[in-house]
Amino acid sequence: MIYKGSCHCGQVVFEAAGSLEKVMECNCSICSKRGSLHWFIPRENFRLLSADDCMSTYTFNKHIIKHRYCPACGCAPFSEGIAPSGNYMVAINARCLDGVDLSSIEVGHFDGRSL
Ligand SMILES: [Zn+2]
Repeated sequence: MIYKGSCHCGQVVFEAAGSLEKVMECNCSICSKRGSLHWFIPRENFRLLSADDCMSTYTFNKHIIKHRYCPACGCAPFSEGIAPSGNYMVAINARCLDGVDLSSIEVGHFDGRSL
């Protein structure tokens, strides 16, 4: 299944392919403030439909993960990084997907604070 997602103002638009069965809530410093619900997919299953320069990028700590956000409306629809396996991954913020009933999706808990 292909999901469409966007920031609030619609400047950042993307598609994500896969089966959305579980999202992860993370307790690290940025996720706890943002309230993101992560859906991890391989980079090749992700397609940015808007121009790359429509987004700003925030990094911190080891600067490995690129936290993308819309400079106009402030939404943070996804982050990009490399998994321990070496694969390029995208963590979609499921809250930014269109037409998804989050109350029907299992929420797991990831202890990012302890990493
Ligand atoms: Zn926006």
